[in-house]
Amino acid sequence: MSVIGIDFGNESCYVAAARSGGIETLANDYSLRATPSFVAFDGKKRIIGVAAKNQQVTNMKNTVGGFKRLLGRKFNDPHVQHELTSIPARVEARGDGSIGIKVNYLGEDQHFGPEQLTAMLFTKLKETSAAAMQTQVNDCVIACPVFFTNAERKALLDAAQIAGLNVLRLMNETTATALAYGFYKNDLFEDKPRNVIFVDFGHSSLQASACAFTKGKLKMLASTWDQIGGRDIDLALGDYFAKEFQERYKINAKTNARANLRLLTEIEKLKKQMSANSTKLPLNIECFLDDIDVSSSMQRSQMEELCAPVLQRVEQTFKRLLAESKLQLDDIHSVEIVGGSSRIPSVKQLIEQVFNKPASTTLNQDEAVSRGAALQCAIMSPAVRVREFGVTDIQNYAVKVLWDSEGSAAPGEIEIFPQYHASPFSRLLTINRKGPFNVSIVYGQQVPYPDQTIGVWKVKDVKPTERGEGQDVKLKVRINNNGIVLISSATLVEKKEAEEAAAAAEQAASEEKPGDQTNNTGEPADGQQEAYCENEDDNNTSTASSPGGQGWAQRVKGWFGSGADKKKKASKATELPLECTTHGFSPVDLSNYTQQESKMIGNDQKETERIDAKNALEEFVYDMRNKLQGGPFERYVVEAEREKIVSQLNDLENWLYEDGEDCERDIYTSRLQALHQKTDPIKLRASDYEQGPAAFDELKNSI
Ligand code: ATP
Ligand code: MG
Repeated sequence: MSVIGIDFGNESCYVAAARSGGIETLANDYSLRATPSFVAFDGKKRIIGVAAKNQQVTNMKNTVGGFKRLLGRKFNDPHVQHELTSIPARVEARGDGSIGIKVNYLGEDQHFGPEQLTAMLFTKLKETSAAAMQTQVNDCVIACPVFFTNAERKALLDAAQIAGLNVLRLMNETTATALAYGFYKNDLFEDKPRNVIFVDFGHSSLQASACAFTKGKLKMLASTWDQIGGRDIDLALGDYFAKEFQERYKINAKTNARANLRLLTEIEKLKKQMSANSTKLPLNIECFLDDIDVSSSMQRSQMEELCAPVLQRVEQTFKRLLAESKLQLDDIHSVEIVGGSSRIPSVKQLIEQVFNKPASTTLNQDEAVSRGAALQCAIMSPAVRVREFGVTDIQNYAVKVLWDSEGSAAPGEIEIFPQYHASPFSRLLTINRKGPFNVSIVYGQQVPYPDQTIGVWKVKDVKPTERGEGQDVKLKVRINNNGIVLISSATLVEKKEAEEAAAAAEQAASEEKPGDQTNNTGEPADGQQEAYCENEDDNNTSTASSPGGQGWAQRVKGWFGSGADKKKKASKATELPLECTTHGFSPVDLSNYTQQESKMIGNDQKETERIDAKNALEEFVYDMRNKLQGGPFERYVVEAEREKIVSQLNDLENWLYEDGEDCERDIYTSRLQALHQKTDPIKLRASDYEQGPAAFDELKNSI
């Protein structure tokens, strides 16, 4: 048994596997560890990963990359519209407003959503893992950017489900990197945290996180990010060269998608060379446009000038992290860098400027995220035995709960999780109601997603007491392992008659308590206990260590009385039905997409078998002809027969290039079988004769 960790990058993916022997980054069918995040289509099959990227220039409209940034979003989202400028495929809004990427597949135009394309990529990664590990792999941990909102996380989980992956945890990318760093450190102490900054500068994003390590544990402190990456640098250089070619050669690279792609590909190569070399380097492209060869050059300082706005944002992101983590420069042990773009020398210089520490490359810059995810998967899965390492992540955005009015009861709201609150975590929110009501969970701050709402939950079957009074409904508000916020349960707490009297007395007492009644929670200021909040008992994170944890809980209790006391008096708890509207596919859609994916997998398999059968036939034709003409079989067949077979082989070769180019698998296999029937006796005669002397020797020895 083995488990895997997946780094699904905007440009490329990595898969690492945890086995009892350790963590290993897996190579794909091209013996490469990076699998480009590209999916392409042709008349017969899907082409995924390395092969897809390789044929991009010749099949641009049916090759799709960059869909990580489209997950969970609608077509008219301005972010999507911006991303689409760099996706050459045709993209349309579907009936429900979702994104439909139109490609020609199996001879007809078909639409696929970003989640489906991601699922296709996951299918490929699953195959890579299965081939490398010689076993079926289902359990995984997938890494996702720290800034992903609920909708994006849900979309990623949906994609994994479509691909038949069982996700044990969606893990923030920098947290995975932190685990890959801390797990092997045996010089960590229990009482003296080691604060390390992790910077991941990739293709489309920059993430920086502060993490505190103690012996056997890590705790994320804060994260900052920006939606900039290596591709923005390529685009800035692209603008420069396009302008230069316009002036010098009078050609406009921007008007031709293919030329533009070739230019960006060459620029990326040049950019990588510039990371290791500060002298002037050439950029040459033959037959670029209108048969014109273009050539130019650039040196590092020039690139830095052109990318100054990007570098400025990098610097701001680092400075924000320093401020938000509340770490002093002296508190920082080191700054570890990962992600392809962190190799750029000016980025390393900025790290040194802001954090006063040289950028450190302890980790494998490309593989750390996947390796950390694989480690987390191993820690969580019973399939692999590995030492424990505690991971406390953070909720990147503040989260609020809002509840609507019901009868005479007023609406209310509360910030249930402040920004950078520990995750996973649960809190109990108690609301007093006489009938069903709605609760919404929303982000309490600006997020990089057009909709601030996480979800709306309808709490059903709430009834008043026999005396017509409101009853306590306990809502469990949870940030789960995937960083998704939800109401995981609602419980009606019915009190016994006698205890109600006691509770009433207690309430009267609590009303007399001096306290802040100005209620920024939106509660009525008359001191009535209509809502209160407490930490859940089963948290695997201690309240005291969570930012705003204990202090927050006490403050709310101060306003509304002690929740803990009330809990003891509860005599009957009834689970209430919840109806939830949130992001992600409906079960019906999920099941349809899953079926569609299985069908496509089946189709790809069939196509692979067909091509294999064709190749086998082709190979046989060449091989047999060589053996019959001047080869080892020549003397085991009479001349006339040999000529007849060779001529048949020649005909078959021609057929393979003409009518037989595109046949069903069975046709190839039956032709191969027919050939075998004709040639096997020759082969047999040859081998009999070859083995003859040996067999004779054996016989002699046994006498
Ligand atoms: P993301 O994390 O944004 O989703 P990703 O994980 O696919 O994307 P990475 O593989 O970390 O991204 O990085 C890819 C980027 O790094 C590309 O833009 C690439 O051009 C850039 N890159 C790789 N090597 C170098 C180098 N030596 N110098 C400069 N840039 C580089
Ligand atoms: Mg990445």
